[in-house]
Amino acid sequence: MSEFVSGRHFLHTPGPSNVPDRVLRAMDRNGINHRGPEFGALGRAVIAQMQEVFQTRGIIGIYPSSGTGAWEAALVNTLAPGDRVLVNRTGQFAHLWEQMALRFGLDVVALETDWRHGADPAAIEQVLEQDREHRIKAVFVVHSETSTSCMSDIPAVRQAMHQHPAMLMVDAISSLGCCEYRHDDWGVDVTIAGSQKGLMVPPGLSFTAISDKALAASRAGGSRRSYWDWEPLVTANKTGFFPYTPAMSLLFGLHEAIRMMQEEGFPRVFARHARYAEATRRAAHGWGLELQCADPGAYAPGVTAIRVPDGHSADKLRAVILERYNMSLGNGLGRIDDKVFRIGHMGDLGVLSLTGALTGVEMGLRAAGIPHKAGGVLAAMAYLASTD
Ligand code: PLP
Repeated sequence: MSEFVSGRHFLHTPGPSNVPDRVLRAMDRNGINHRGPEFGALGRAVIAQMQEVFQTRGIIGIYPSSGTGAWEAALVNTLAPGDRVLVNRTGQFAHLWEQMALRFGLDVVALETDWRHGADPAAIEQVLEQDREHRIKAVFVVHSETSTSCMSDIPAVRQAMHQHPAMLMVDAISSLGCCEYRHDDWGVDVTIAGSQKGLMVPPGLSFTAISDKALAASRAGGSRRSYWDWEPLVTANKTGFFPYTPAMSLLFGLHEAIRMMQEEGFPRVFARHARYAEATRRAAHGWGLELQCADPGAYAPGVTAIRVPDGHSADKLRAVILERYNMSLGNGLGRIDDKVFRIGHMGDLGVLSLTGALTGVEMGLRAAGIPHKAGGVLAAMAYLASTD
């Protein structure tokens, strides 16, 4: 049998997301001197663009790394071994961040969730109220928990912290560019993001938005660090240059990607994500399948995790969909391994790409023998048509 598969691969993982042709073209060029004037202008431009994306006037750090690198940078710049931190166990990414904190010798206090809700501000408030000696130095929250497709309400978490001096650290890796995010107004101290999701750029860049308070904490202490040190980023923000060879191809791409978002207008970008997410949920309801996120107020804009009925394998479903329909979906992670499949609908996506992806899922459900009702795609189409 021929190995040839016709048609374009449907990439519907929740990161990496699809890279628009304009971004691919922007990266398709020779390198430039990273110590020359052209690069300085590019560096300053992308930093200004990222300030707009993060909604901050503060320092932006750009690393040639995946998002995990920016997690590490946040920890080693602001916290020292033995410092106490409050983590919210909302899903697999919160778990991985917690594991990293433990490896750095931080003293972790954890709040559990059932992985079907976001962080609970009331529970955070209670823990911080009891921390009269202010031993907790930071609160970690994952804004969009990509493994469960549940959001945490960052302004509500900030509100729950009241006057407690702990820093608020937010992982916005799968939310930035998909929905409103306001680093300054929400009082976040460190926000972490990556290039490969809502920002429509290939993997390889990570970002941190850093508040004055977090910068002061890093200057006063933190852990031993070298490559991840924030201090050179302060200089980079003024000059546009980096202390090492920057990932310039990705920066060319980022510049173009954010230009596209600016042209579309951020409110429209966010409304588009909300609409596609709603259409995807309507499809899931039409199929009679349950969403992993059990809180309708917390649905994520860029990804939807859908549970398969007990006794069935989400991985088998994904394998069938990949083999027959040439589409990649996200797998279940950690404790929901094989129990959910995740449809990524973030970044560069049109209505027909989305309905095509949903069609692939519906056909896959049938082919894999997963009990479901027909009509999910029709429900999504009806919603999309009524909101044109
Ligand atoms: N945090 C969240 C919410 C994520 O979705 C991911 C990746 O999917 C990460 C952290 C880890 O980022 P990376 O894989 O870029 O290191």
